[in-house]
Amino acid sequence: MKKIGILTSGGDTPGMNAAVRAVVRMGLNYNDAMLGIYHGYQGLMEGHVQPLTNDGVHGITQRGGTILRTARSEIFRTPAGCAKAMDIIHAYEMDAVIVIGGDGSYRGAKLLSEHGANVMCLPGTIDNDLGYTDFTIGFDTAVNNVMGEMDKILDTMRSHDRVGVIEVMGRNCGDIALWSAMTGPADIVLTPESPLEWSEAARMLMQSKLKGHKTCLVVIAEGAGHAADFAKFVEETTDVEIRPVVLGYIQRGGAPSAADRMLAARLGARAVDLIHEEQRNRAVGIRDNHIIDVPLDEAIESKQNQDEALYNLHLKLNRFNL
Ligand code: ATP
Repeated sequence: MKKIGILTSGGDTPGMNAAVRAVVRMGLNYNDAMLGIYHGYQGLMEGHVQPLTNDGVHGITQRGGTILRTARSEIFRTPAGCAKAMDIIHAYEMDAVIVIGGDGSYRGAKLLSEHGANVMCLPGTIDNDLGYTDFTIGFDTAVNNVMGEMDKILDTMRSHDRVGVIEVMGRNCGDIALWSAMTGPADIVLTPESPLEWSEAARMLMQSKLKGHKTCLVVIAEGAGHAADFAKFVEETTDVEIRPVVLGYIQRGGAPSAADRMLAARLGARAVDLIHEEQRNRAVGIRDNHIIDVPLDEAIESKQNQDEALYNLHLKLNRFNL
């Protein structure tokens, strides 16, 4: 029997609850004591710890956000903050802490590991910006959310013969933008990784207008710039009128998709197995549909690269190139 703490950290993401359920139920299969740590590292420092029971995780899979709440904590990163967090880990005699979050949360977990804690990390971020795993929990739902909003925005744009640019999240990763542009679909995608210059995109919009296309949709990743700035640039350099839209938090709200629930279940269960295999400080992920785990350091160092084949496919399916 082990004592396992679990926390969610950084931006909330759909599927975090499904991961919490999987971790708790898997732990109970081993007769472990499962401890919920509320409000991320901030709550760990402050001792917001409550037992998580079988019934306590009933009915949470389909809920967005995180029942454990989440937080961003600057104090935790200080030596005093980390020492306080370690005191709580020792006070509750936690054998391991499972952290669900993005790359910042992974760095926080590494800090704990350097002070002697055993940490297992699950990728919980809509950004899909952790290179060691093909997918992060929440990414699929975010893409579905963006796709749904694009459908609605296109109804209006087609009715009014308008051109628009939609800004999506992703930090420095263009995956939400690329996948949304592929599935939306959108005519042009601007990602931090893509070589397409704004001037080239503006030229394409101009040509599209000259060809008589009434409606045109651009997706811009936040890491490639803001929709309002791009719209201003286009209107200053061409005679195309273009409406900017920023989707914001609706991208990461709502019920998780089936793919995210499945991913969360598989990754959460594996994290608990690893603790019982006496593994230390690892990150769980998925590659080619196989659940994998890598040393935490490797997960933090891995760089996410844009899927060039997917980007090129988007160009091929784009009407501008035909
Ligand atoms: P998302 O990708 O959704 O934003 P994230 O996990 O990257 O999630 P961050 O705000 O970057 O979100 O990090 C969450 C928390 O992890 C921070 O508030 C901080 O407490 C801790 N953290 C971040 N970076 C570090 C670091 N370099 N060292 C120690 N702790 C860190």
